[in-house]
Amino acid sequence: MKVLIVGGGIGGITCMLALRKRGVDAQLFEQASAFGQVGAGIQVSSNAARILLNLGLGAALKKVATYPEGRDYRGWDTGERLYYTPLGQQAETYFGSPYYAAHRAELLDVLLSGLGEEGVRLGSRIERVDQDSSGVTLTLADGTTAQGDILVGADGIHSTIRGQLFGKELPRYTGNVAWRGLVPAERVAHLDVGSMVGVWMGPNRSIVQYYVSAGRTFNWIGISRSPQPARESWLAEGKVEDALAEYDGWHPTIRTIIAATPKVLRQALYDREPLPDWQAGRVVLLGDAAHPMMPFYAQGGAQSIEDAYVLAGCIAEAQDEPRAALARFVKMRLPRTAWMQGLARQQEELYQTNDAASIKERNEIMRVNRTPETAIFPPEQKRLYGYDADTELRNSA
Ligand SMILES: Cc1cc2nc3c(=O)[nH]c(=O)nc-3n(C[C@H](O)[C@H](O)[C@H](O)COP(=O)(O)OP(=O)(O)OC[C@H]3O[C@@H](n4cnc5c(N)ncnc54)[C@H](O)[C@@H]3O)c2cc1C
Repeated sequence: MKVLIVGGGIGGITCMLALRKRGVDAQLFEQASAFGQVGAGIQVSSNAARILLNLGLGAALKKVATYPEGRDYRGWDTGERLYYTPLGQQAETYFGSPYYAAHRAELLDVLLSGLGEEGVRLGSRIERVDQDSSGVTLTLADGTTAQGDILVGADGIHSTIRGQLFGKELPRYTGNVAWRGLVPAERVAHLDVGSMVGVWMGPNRSIVQYYVSAGRTFNWIGISRSPQPARESWLAEGKVEDALAEYDGWHPTIRTIIAATPKVLRQALYDREPLPDWQAGRVVLLGDAAHPMMPFYAQGGAQSIEDAYVLAGCIAEAQDEPRAALARFVKMRLPRTAWMQGLARQQEELYQTNDAASIKERNEIMRVNRTPETAIFPPEQKRLYGYDADTELRNSA
């Protein structure tokens, strides 16, 4: 059994690690000449952390990540705490694995620390895939080819593999752009935001903030409704003045954080409708290639990690039946990720509604769970963070 993986993002690298751990030969093709992630933060929720710990990356992750105590949902102008859900020790005890926040580049380094160079081909852009009853053949941009038994398309939201096998429809502009910034921790220390994931909800826009890099850096992600930008601004450097204008009138804490940011990134947000299937014969998609989602639950990367781990399990357990292995994987994973895609869209309206009556009603409902000492985990968090890929694999055998 030889598995070819297209794409060296969070999903592709985790898939390679998980396959290796199960003794399955794999080769990974990444178009970039070096592995890299944009300079920004990423929440590594308990469901994803459990898998990274299983892959032996727990100590490396703990070293670079932060361990937020809770998630604070606040009003954009007054800063009033409207809702609270526990993280930290309480989440670790409840879900059986830690909830971290990290810098993306450091998360990638943690994944790469387990990978080594063998079987990894950088600077290798895949142009097409062909298959027959005996295997798959990849064609690279330089015209060379590679053969394997299974191909995994982990090539992100603009996936070439998805386009070739399932049609080239464009991703859907979500009506939102993301602003991202990293601030040296000392510049915001006086704000005393604590060891929290802060979620600030305002009309038409929101901001999420937390420490990364073992507390040395403060990360914020603002999402705001905006007319569709040009394609070239999918990821572009934005201006701090523009971000401040976007968050005009917001609480001084938020404005101070933005003003202290050395460099702001601005990115249009896209997602797609759930696909009815991710498998075509010996080829399968995972991660953003299969199910890109809005970032309101901080789950795109976590779902890629879950996919990668479950897929490796399915392949390892049915090496003589590649198609059946992929079918089992899709059956296990598609309902959960489609649920997540839908939930992330709903959350956009919850966070960013601009209708005064809806805001009032939302705030009243949320305030019921705002006291840290008594706050509970809502059902969707239990379903999300409590997911144990090993149990799921055993149950679906
Ligand atoms: C603002 C924002 C905040 C987010 N916050 C979080 C969060 O807190 N937690 C979380 O879990 N998720 C978060 N996400 C989602 C997360 O970033 C993505 O879901 C995740 O990066 C997807 O990983 P992936 O490996 O599937 O795809 P990608 O990371 O897109 O990787 C795809 C890789 O494939 C390569 N590639 C593409 N085409 C080819 C080709 N033809 N040949 C070879 N290589 C190719 C690319 O170069 C890339 O390296 C956030 C997203 C955004 C936009």
